[in-house]
Amino acid sequence: MDIVIYVVAFIFGIVIGSFLNVLIFRMPKGEDIASKRSHCMSCGYQLRWFDLIPLFSWIFLRGRCRKCHEKISIQYPIIEALNGILYVAILLLCGIKIDSLLFCLAASALLALSVIDFRTYIIPIGFNIFILALGVIRIICKLAIDGDTLGSVVPYVIGMFAVSVPLGILWFLSKGRAIGGGDVKLMGAAGLLLGWKQILFAFVLGCIIGSFIHIARMKISKAGRVLAMGPYLAAGIMIVILFGEKLLGWYTGLLGL
Ligand SMILES: [Zn+2]
Repeated sequence: MDIVIYVVAFIFGIVIGSFLNVLIFRMPKGEDIASKRSHCMSCGYQLRWFDLIPLFSWIFLRGRCRKCHEKISIQYPIIEALNGILYVAILLLCGIKIDSLLFCLAASALLALSVIDFRTYIIPIGFNIFILALGVIRIICKLAIDGDTLGSVVPYVIGMFAVSVPLGILWFLSKGRAIGGGDVKLMGAAGLLLGWKQILFAFVLGCIIGSFIHIARMKISKAGRVLAMGPYLAAGIMIVILFGEKLLGWYTGLLGL
């Protein structure tokens, strides 16, 4: 029976992934997300329903437009597949529960904002508001469904400020040069969703991943010194969502806490 749930999660994941592609391409241009039909970027051919099946249409068309045979960005199937895989991984590692549904939605927001931030150095505010809303829903579920005490919510409220306040001060002092305002808000929103232990851990992971990858990119591709932190912070948050419990248990055990 579980296998059905994972298959459904994967299908749901690639469908949402295909919506993420729309966000990724249209949001930075300020284009309307919903009104315009999907079309080929080079010839304008309006895609039919069978051109829009996530992952499979791209594979079937071998990555080319049906009409003009121009190449279709490989970003489409990659984002779709990645989002599907993330959904299955979250269910496998976090269990089949409401938290996992919230984490899946957060993972999708992280995926989309990473690509947008990587390209434009801007995290659209909507993603941070969305993640913050997931955090609020998680707390409401804890109180209303699990019957947790108000005290059990405290670590999450602290989490909202644990990383975002120090980063916010850094943002203020450096006039936004050391860190972007979007990064500060991301750590606040994700902090509420995950709690202070997890968000601190996510931040440290994000910084480590960011330094390694950015130095490598500067060496290999002569990438500029300007660093979009969003993708690395998002990677840190994602790793903590997937492996946080186990990693934190191991880490606190190591320190004898
Ligand atoms: Zn075309």
